[in-house]
Amino acid sequence: MTNKIKNMGYKKPSFIENIAEKIGIIPNLHKEKYQEFDGDMRQFSDEEVASMYENFPPPEKWDNWVEYNPKVWPKKEKTTYQIVPTTCFNCESACGLTAFIDKETQEVKKFEGNPHHPGSRGRNCAKGPATINQITDPDRILYPLKRKGKRGEGEWERISWDEALDTIAARIRKAIKEDRRNEIAYHVGRPGHEKFMNWVLQGWGIDGHNSHTNICSSGARFGYNIWYGYDRPSPDHAEAKFILLVSAHLESGHYFNPHAQRIIEGKMKGAKLATMDPRLSNTASMSDYWLPSYPGTEAAVLLAMALIILEEGLYNREYLENWVNWQEYLKAKGVEIKFENYISEMIKEYKEFTPEYAEEESGVKAEMIVEIAHKIGEAGERFASHNWRAAGASNLGGWAVARCLHFLTVLTGAVGAKGGTSPNSWNKFSPTQPNPPAPQKVWNELHFPKEYPLAFFEMSQLLPHFLKEGRGFMDVYFSRVFNPIWTYPDGFTWMEMFMREDKFGLHTALTPTWNETAFYADFVLPMGLASERHDINSYATHGGTWVAFRQPVLREAARRNGNPVEFTYEANPGEVWEEDEFWIELSWRIDPDGSMGIRKTFESPYRPGEKITIDEYYQYIFERVDGLTEAANADGITGDFAALEYMKKYGAYEIEQGESYKMNERSVSKEKLKGAVTDPVNGVIRKDGKDIGVMVNGKAVVGFPTPSRKNEFYSQTMVDWKWPEYATPTYIKSHIHNDVLDKSKGEYVLVPTFRLPTLIHSRSGNAKWLVEISNRNPIWMHPDDAAKWGFKTGDLVKMNTDIGYFIDKVWVTQSMKPGVVACSHHIGRWRRPQDKIGNRWATNTVNIESDGNGSWKMNTMSGIKPFESKDKDSKRIFWKDGGVHQNITHAVHPDPISGMHTWHQRVRIEKPAPGENYGDIFVDTNKSHEIYKEWLAMARPAPGPNGERRPLWFKRAFTPDKTEGGCYYITDDKKE
Ligand code: SF4
Repeated sequence: MTNKIKNMGYKKPSFIENIAEKIGIIPNLHKEKYQEFDGDMRQFSDEEVASMYENFPPPEKWDNWVEYNPKVWPKKEKTTYQIVPTTCFNCESACGLTAFIDKETQEVKKFEGNPHHPGSRGRNCAKGPATINQITDPDRILYPLKRKGKRGEGEWERISWDEALDTIAARIRKAIKEDRRNEIAYHVGRPGHEKFMNWVLQGWGIDGHNSHTNICSSGARFGYNIWYGYDRPSPDHAEAKFILLVSAHLESGHYFNPHAQRIIEGKMKGAKLATMDPRLSNTASMSDYWLPSYPGTEAAVLLAMALIILEEGLYNREYLENWVNWQEYLKAKGVEIKFENYISEMIKEYKEFTPEYAEEESGVKAEMIVEIAHKIGEAGERFASHNWRAAGASNLGGWAVARCLHFLTVLTGAVGAKGGTSPNSWNKFSPTQPNPPAPQKVWNELHFPKEYPLAFFEMSQLLPHFLKEGRGFMDVYFSRVFNPIWTYPDGFTWMEMFMREDKFGLHTALTPTWNETAFYADFVLPMGLASERHDINSYATHGGTWVAFRQPVLREAARRNGNPVEFTYEANPGEVWEEDEFWIELSWRIDPDGSMGIRKTFESPYRPGEKITIDEYYQYIFERVDGLTEAANADGITGDFAALEYMKKYGAYEIEQGESYKMNERSVSKEKLKGAVTDPVNGVIRKDGKDIGVMVNGKAVVGFPTPSRKNEFYSQTMVDWKWPEYATPTYIKSHIHNDVLDKSKGEYVLVPTFRLPTLIHSRSGNAKWLVEISNRNPIWMHPDDAAKWGFKTGDLVKMNTDIGYFIDKVWVTQSMKPGVVACSHHIGRWRRPQDKIGNRWATNTVNIESDGNGSWKMNTMSGIKPFESKDKDSKRIFWKDGGVHQNITHAVHPDPISGMHTWHQRVRIEKPAPGENYGDIFVDTNKSHEIYKEWLAMARPAPGPNGERRPLWFKRAFTPDKTEGGCYYITDDKKE
């Protein structure tokens, strides 16, 4: 190892750091050799890490922990706490939290991290501890509510859980009995309870799951999936030598804290970080390389890097030869099947992607592209990368960005390698549930319509348009921690449909907080926050696997204190319930005597015929986790519910610590190989009609879940499903490519896909600390653009979209790429005068008017104001500006392949006319319906081969029955 490499990233300690490290005030970050890559790269030993948490209360003291109140120092006022672990609910990462419960009052006083959680390791972002704001928010919903008067009028009355359950159950029972199963749907915003809803909805026999994923991540998912059958990456940042992020993961993107801490760990060990983002995000500012690419051109840059790696021989020949379906590619091209030909054909295929071309497209300097390509090549298997939302979620063809990024991972052989990028399922636990129901035998075309056979998730953004044009009816509709009127594009079309009882029969909003969608529901049912509910979590945060337990902490404290409750709402504030019990109760009421075949799913696995309890559900799962019962026993926890008790005590369990690399190379067991047949052409091993592995170098290994069991550089699936032009990784020009914008008319691209790191989609509105930190969303504009328009910071700007406009303020900043503007989402929350309370820390009061013919206006009547409440801080609110709701002015733009809503907007920038004010919004929903039809016309509908609705090897949320001739096939119009 050269000294240069040895010292990569090493910074000499300052005099003060030296002293502070020596006397132990700060950890010693400058130990000899810690910068080295080879050998054990960890900076600290397990013991050293453990010692850093010495100040955290040890678990044996969690039932009796004494702290002194720092606010009254030097007076000694002590509080005795019970500490109960749970997990954060404020993003998907599910970091560990510990609730500090005052023993005397049984009130939760604060949340801290949980050092026993292997993903977050005791650390949280600001949103974790802010859970305390959410549970004490004076505006939170504490009891089940039913609307009074007409939908949307804003009047509510308190009802009992029994009334809500009986009403909803009767309606569902009727719909199922009348075989109107596709009229029941559950639409989820923030998921995070592994497989629970599969169990419920498939237990009812309906295809009723809808999700927010098509406005979030399905673009990137498609790009990864088409390569190797896994739809999410799990970068091993801490062990990487080079990290490339196509987005702002470090600060604000997905897996904010668990990834951020490991990216920093990797950097501290010498890894270099590059971030491709038109905005100088906090992540970009912490990077070694910032690539401010013009939005939508990322794939061109990535292909230029690929070409350099190919031309300069920096690729991993052995990996490509063994783990890519290159033979199929050459066969399709009619070229002799020789590995050398594969390399030369790829070089030919990508020859136009020179660094100069990529610079012309993206604006990223050619020299930087070359330098990064070299670094990636040098990193080899230790190349970690990630694209999740950002470019993958913003552009027509955005899925191609993730596909081209994974191309680099394949070229370097970093797929599944230590320090590389693994499929996320290798680092994720999947529960085994009691009484698993059979897959449903119906297909709901309101969720997966024929036009989008490859759509990776439900076409949820089009639901109101489908209803508008009479494709179906939602008799019983649940919105669950889901706020489409505010979060989705085209919110006024959602509002129009929600107002109509012939479109949405009974709308139940399951939500912990008031939101813009709940205002238009029939029932608003309060659901628990992080410390008020049960969930199982497991996410791919690093090269290891863990499972965590979100639990209602007051219920657990009551149990420990010898006062157990039957239902969680008995322990929670007001009558806030958790969903697990809600769904089990509802299911029993749908099928009270078991005659519909529904009840059996929800019966106890230990007490036949009786209703399953929450403890039984989780014990059943945890006792099947490898090593968990043994770990409990070793900790002195014994008995029938030992595994569950362990999880209640620690909140998380590490299933494996980082051996899950290269899992595609695992051997297929001799037992499995008995009776299997190997395809002589591609080496795929089949048994009982299923692919179980592939022959590689004479060995039977499991491979990847693709038709070739390898990385598919060449995709026959794309060819078979009518997209032959995208058979290989490609650059697709975005709908906002520079060629289609008319700069002379003031047309720009608006980047609306980033968030400020302290905010949650629409649930930070009830977290006062978070709103205090971030409460405005101005338009980011480079000084050159601002000068051209004559704007200065604070000036009003009118942003004309394809369906309307919004009026915002300008923020002039060099953090924005010239020629591009940006506006953060998560801000611009509102309520109407009749919505007397609801997230008052964050909501403007607005007036909404419609002409009844598709034209909608919204204007801000007043900003955020101090208010009287049981929280003294509500009188101290000093911020007034609640920002502007931009998403409601965006048209739907479904990518014709991945189904992803492509968020970037073409906007025409102008100065507002006299009389137009900050916060004014206008939308024409007739125009938005026309644009929906324009994008729909780009789709290439099913069926595919053999009448399939969707490639059989693609995963699908809540997969229906795949029996030939069943609902997975279009039987009546195969010849369309
Ligand atoms: S990253 Fe922050 S918001 Fe997300 S789970 Fe962790 S603490 Fe909560």
